[in-house]
Amino acid sequence: MKRFKPDNKGYYGTYGGAFIPEMLLPNIATLQASYLEIINSESFRKEFRQLLKDYVGRPTPLFYSANLSKRYHTQVFLKREDLNHTGAHKINNTIGQILIAKHLNKQRIIAETGAGQHGVATATACALMGMECTVFMGAVDMKRQAHNVERMRMLGARVVPAESGSRTLKDATNEAIREWIRYPEDTHYIIGSVVGPHPYPDMVAIFQSVISDEIKLQVKAKCGKEHPDIVIACVGGGSNAIGAFYHFIDNGHTRLIAVEAAGMGLESGKTAASIAMGRKGVIHGNMTFLMQTEDGQITEPHSVSAGLDYPGIGPAHAYLWDTGKIEVVSITDEAALKAGLMLTRMDGIIPALESAHAIAYLEYLNAAPEDVVVVNLSGRGDKDLPAYQKYFQSCPID
Ligand SMILES: *Cc1c(COP(=O)(O)O)cnc(C)c1O
Repeated sequence: MKRFKPDNKGYYGTYGGAFIPEMLLPNIATLQASYLEIINSESFRKEFRQLLKDYVGRPTPLFYSANLSKRYHTQVFLKREDLNHTGAHKINNTIGQILIAKHLNKQRIIAETGAGQHGVATATACALMGMECTVFMGAVDMKRQAHNVERMRMLGARVVPAESGSRTLKDATNEAIREWIRYPEDTHYIIGSVVGPHPYPDMVAIFQSVISDEIKLQVKAKCGKEHPDIVIACVGGGSNAIGAFYHFIDNGHTRLIAVEAAGMGLESGKTAASIAMGRKGVIHGNMTFLMQTEDGQITEPHSVSAGLDYPGIGPAHAYLWDTGKIEVVSITDEAALKAGLMLTRMDGIIPALESAHAIAYLEYLNAAPEDVVVVNLSGRGDKDLPAYQKYFQSCPID
């Protein structure tokens, strides 16, 4: 089967492309011209596979949850990305990109981070490879996520506060782009999701596709089926979702369900549901769906989970939704907190609040008893303890 990919200019239908300042053209052109050749080279493949296995801890288990299966009258499996080194799927991408940087003879890495998860994964890969690492982070986020700032510093990264605008993720991204323009020669910019200009959405999707590669083999081994019947994943930028969907897109069988963060509710004005509430436009170098005002100003997103708190979505998801190849639904802050606490008490797994959005959708799924339902558990929830604590002190579960 042909792999899921954009055209050679990075378009998925009318979404994607590379809308960038002229100063970045040489860097982006080099990446566009070389990423597939590097990824397909024997030396890259060997090193990437080895690191995913021995350093990240792959393959991650596919866990049959007897408790969730009983509750929802179907067969529920959890893909345990929370068991990866550093606690989420993001490390699959940072390991891939640091090897790309090495092949391009870059010595410096820059990255942006919101909650700090991508910053930690990047600082980790840099420590391993002996690369200099600078992470841009909104000054407000640095206060909210002080623990991750300390982790990055311990790993040897320089954390630079972004002091402009709302001093959150989108401002950190602007700072990172400015830095890349300043030092294009020796620096590689590691983007943390399937967003940004071509080739990032495709490159990151390829690195995360290891998730569905493994799911396919594991479902075959455990259930004797060629494909799962349903795959559910949360979407911020969309990297864990595209990774979990990748090898099932267009197979004519598997229902692929992307769960957006509804925040306080779709109509509340405090939401991060980019497909439900957004319109077509350009954000961070690509044409996609984003939340914007009448006159095209990007609106501040809201989600209880920092990883879903992004006003756009990767162009591949915009295209897959537009063409009816995936379903897009949304889950509120409240429902996600409830589902996270339920999974904790039911299976002894504290999920990341992002992943809890995917778990929460089981409540609405109505799958058949024989269906094989895979929920991608994108990360662990230690980082979200304060939010969970606040929730279960005020409303204990039934
Ligand atoms: C960052 C993050 C997400 C959201 O990012 P995607 O690119 O949409 O996957 C989801 N879950 C966890 C645990 C994260 O850290």
